[in-house]
Amino acid sequence: MSSNIGIGTLITPPAMLGIVGGGQLGRYFVMAAHTMGYGTTVLEPDPHAPAGKVADVHIAAAYDDPAALDQLASTCAVVTTEFENVPAAAMEYLAAHTTVHPSPTAIATCQDRIAEKQFLTDIGVTVAPYVAIITDADLAVAASFRFPAILKTARLGYDGKGQVTVPTHHDLVEAWQTLGQVPCVLEQRLALERELSMVLARTADGRVACYPVAQNEHVDGILDISFAPATLPGTGHGEAAKLCSYIAEELGFVGVMAVEMFVVGSDVLVNEIAPRPHNSGHFTLDACLCSQFEQQVRAICGLALGDAKLIVPGVAMANLLGDLWVDGEPKWERALWQQAAHLHLYGKREPRPGRKMGHLTTLSATVVGATTLARRLRSQLTAD
Ligand code: ATP
Ligand code: MG
Repeated sequence: MSSNIGIGTLITPPAMLGIVGGGQLGRYFVMAAHTMGYGTTVLEPDPHAPAGKVADVHIAAAYDDPAALDQLASTCAVVTTEFENVPAAAMEYLAAHTTVHPSPTAIATCQDRIAEKQFLTDIGVTVAPYVAIITDADLAVAASFRFPAILKTARLGYDGKGQVTVPTHHDLVEAWQTLGQVPCVLEQRLALERELSMVLARTADGRVACYPVAQNEHVDGILDISFAPATLPGTGHGEAAKLCSYIAEELGFVGVMAVEMFVVGSDVLVNEIAPRPHNSGHFTLDACLCSQFEQQVRAICGLALGDAKLIVPGVAMANLLGDLWVDGEPKWERALWQQAAHLHLYGKREPRPGRKMGHLTTLSATVVGATTLARRLRSQLTAD
């Protein structure tokens, strides 16, 4: 169901929106779409995946299953993805039969660290010094590289998986073997002052909305705490918005994406692009008028983009990993008793260590206040 009212083609309710990937990001997308009156179809092989439970239709098949793709293509007005590693051929097949946002080309660029860094370099965006490691010959060339470094698989990494520290050039061969000798990037390990990210939305006709920059802290390669707005000097938020909008434009991106940035001295380097909503954008669910998921619906349907401003002075988001369940169910009442805290649980069955089971958002008059509260409440969930 689409209509043209002179400002571009809009996809309007009750059109069916398709989504590839059924994790928590997909679940929030489905919830936002339902609120606005759209139907939803999720393609996700895991029969117990969070988004599958809430979607109108859950196709529990492989991401490249031909019959599943035909069903998506024939029933959905637009298809998007929350799963970064969806096979490129599947997205291309879908794009030949229905509207797909973001484009398969944009997704393919973000799926492969070598292609992504090459793209960023080509458009003049600074990234950490790196070399691609594809063949044995590349190992020798890397002798002149600045160590210590991190070897990252070009594809399929997430939450720090598929990464090995390489202290010196002598350790490189073994590190590459550990990663199965697949194509990798060897990246200089930088002394990061801060990690930042920006979530933004872009429509097919080039309208852009940027959320405030968030500051992120990782533990063991996994996002631990994120808070917004990041304290930036002077025009920092505006400059970040300019940089990230430029990247989105050059990528021809349509939908919601996130740009992860490293601050090293006075430089801002781009770490990677997530071609979808982002964990560090979960604060928008409770602290913005339009969440990153409603924004994703708006962007891919060509609607007006929602207001991306914060409605509170400070917000923090603490991830709740499966580790919290080691002694049984966490004491949720300790968070639920607080007016300023918002508990999110994704409905996942098995709380494995390192698995993102939910998150806690805290709102406050200051960012520091929100962050302190998030840390305190999370630790109380498992305290005696
Ligand atoms: P995610 O999917 O959670 O974003 P990922 O597995 O894709 O993570 P990266 O974002 O590349 O991997 O790295 C994870 C974290 O490791 C970064 O957020 C940062 O804390 C650290 N890290 C990555 N690259 C570097 C680097 N070159 N120098 C220093 N620290 C780094
Ligand atoms: Mg990352």
